[in-house]
Amino acid sequence: MVKQAGGTTQKPRGQHGKLPSQERDAGNPWIVGGMVRFLVGLTFLAALIVPTGLLRIISPALGSEQLPTPESGLAIIPLGGPTATPTPVVAEETPHKYRAGIIAGHTGSDSGAVCPDGLQEVTVNMVIAQQVVALLEERGWEVDLLEEFDPRLNGYQADALLSIHADSCVYPGKTGFKVARAESSYIPSDEDALVGCIVKYYRGRTGLEFDANTITFDMTRYHAYYEIDRNTPAAIIEVGFMLDDRALLVDRPELVAQGIVEGLVCFVEGEEGR
Ligand SMILES: [Zn+2]
Repeated sequence: MVKQAGGTTQKPRGQHGKLPSQERDAGNPWIVGGMVRFLVGLTFLAALIVPTGLLRIISPALGSEQLPTPESGLAIIPLGGPTATPTPVVAEETPHKYRAGIIAGHTGSDSGAVCPDGLQEVTVNMVIAQQVVALLEERGWEVDLLEEFDPRLNGYQADALLSIHADSCVYPGKTGFKVARAESSYIPSDEDALVGCIVKYYRGRTGLEFDANTITFDMTRYHAYYEIDRNTPAAIIEVGFMLDDRALLVDRPELVAQGIVEGLVCFVEGEEGR
């Protein structure tokens, strides 16, 4: 037999080595387990409810209730509050600038028709063309004053192109004007409208008669038609004869120019724009 210090015999430990006092402090294991399950369940419940908005997250830093910041950038409009009016985004609108090309017939190339007294067609054309350009620019148009064989004609794009010419001095008693477009037009209805507008307003402004019978291949197969962009409506005008219509062409070029401008405006801006 082994003798222990103190001479007292110790109470044997229980099966799991626990002392009776320890069993008393831990309490009933069934109560502890229930509390753990309750806490876990509460956590799950809270996790389910928070996204519904029934519970709000309180920011510990501010200590006050905060509405969640929307990540999508959508504004939160309180029910019953004033309806937010979206500020209209006003784009910087550049008003369309009308563009036209005016060919001063024969310029940069040759004299054109020459009268016995020395009057040259190129001079008559140039004076009229410059006045047409000035009037259109006054309206805010962008206008290119082009020479007869201007390199800019290659692929030229505009709302309209008009070549200005005058008829010769060789037919005494001949009067009137002519307007024509390409015989093989890519945009015949557009160009017919252009021709129609110019005929209407040029006749109205100058009093000259439209002479459809003397339109030549020079007008319907005019070189510029084959150089410009095929979507640019183009036409050519013979403003009158340098002999019998001289009083108008030389002495009243502003009237001639005005008639042409009114025709171009009718076509490009519309009848009401005139
Ligand atoms: Zn000519």
